[in-house]
Amino acid sequence: MEQIRSSLNPHPAGQREFNVPRDEFGQPLNGLQHKYRETVLFFPSQGQTCHSYCTFCFRWAQFVGDRQLRMATRQAARLHDYLRRHPEVSDLLLTGGDPMVMKTRHLEDYLLPLMEPEFAHIRHLRIGTKSLSFWPYRYLTDRDADDLLRLLERLVNAGKHVTLMAHYNHWREMETDAARNAIARVRGTGALIRAQGPLLAHINDDPEVWARLWRTQVSLGVVPYYMFVERDTGARRYFEVPLGRCWEIYQKAIQQVSGLARTVRGPSMSAVPGKVEILGIAELQGERVMVLRFLQGRNPDWVHRPFFARFDPAATWLDQLQPAFGDSRFFFEDECGGGQH
Ligand SMILES: *Cc1c(COP(=O)(O)O)cnc(C)c1O
Ligand code: SF4
Repeated sequence: MEQIRSSLNPHPAGQREFNVPRDEFGQPLNGLQHKYRETVLFFPSQGQTCHSYCTFCFRWAQFVGDRQLRMATRQAARLHDYLRRHPEVSDLLLTGGDPMVMKTRHLEDYLLPLMEPEFAHIRHLRIGTKSLSFWPYRYLTDRDADDLLRLLERLVNAGKHVTLMAHYNHWREMETDAARNAIARVRGTGALIRAQGPLLAHINDDPEVWARLWRTQVSLGVVPYYMFVERDTGARRYFEVPLGRCWEIYQKAIQQVSGLARTVRGPSMSAVPGKVEILGIAELQGERVMVLRFLQGRNPDWVHRPFFARFDPAATWLDQLQPAFGDSRFFFEDECGGGQH
């Protein structure tokens, strides 16, 4: 069991080594990740399970009982201390697991203090969740459903931008009345819903599915945000899709929808150096290349700078790509100590 788990790459993209910030005494702050200047990720300890147990999940290490693997912390105070000391942070992203498995009163402990003037720099609050499709009753009939909606509304009224980062893989997840009513109730609070999900073999590796997914989202008032490449963790052999094919699916899907759905950023890999988007495949200087760019970078100066990899039809992740034009390294590798992984 142990062996299988460790072979499944429990903390991909160097989440353990690079991203855990330290407090003023140099102690690691478990439960926090601060990778991109403006955004802090927080893993509330009560939110480290999920309504779903997707076999492609890259957060599975959060769920299993091994305490060493868990990065959660109970201490809202430590989160608030950190945010107080980091005025450059504008975004807080609660993630897990699924923070919406928490009782509303726990969410209040983390979020309500942020309405105080000392946290005026924390403008954007995001909560990553699968609940809108797997447990829409969280917003409808759970005992504290109404309290949750009131919490969202209070944060919005206090001037915060509040957005649920909803995980959807397929338009079928938005077919039921419950799923649609949940979306409508959340929108009624003034909070936004943005959608993200991975491209998965056997589930949604089809442009028609994505086009319909985005169209459905737009008509329900949900903003398409990210299409992710299945991460290099867990049982990826079954679900992974070659990068060239990911881009083809994205391009064939996006051309079918209107500009309102083209808010979605296209196949994106969350790797050690940053979030890398596949912009396309091109022929340059007689070489077939993949055009890439950082959507987020460990160094903000990398963001939106196009770079090129030799086209490799089998590659499924950044670390399998080679620089184009005979270069020996990608431009970001010098700063990243060479290892992309
Ligand atoms: C995706 C991501 C974010 C958020 O990036 P945005 O471009 O603001 O959506 C923040 N931190 C980490 C570690 C991420 O992977
Ligand atoms: S919904 Fe997200 S966090 Fe939950 S099991 Fe699936 S991938 Fe993991």
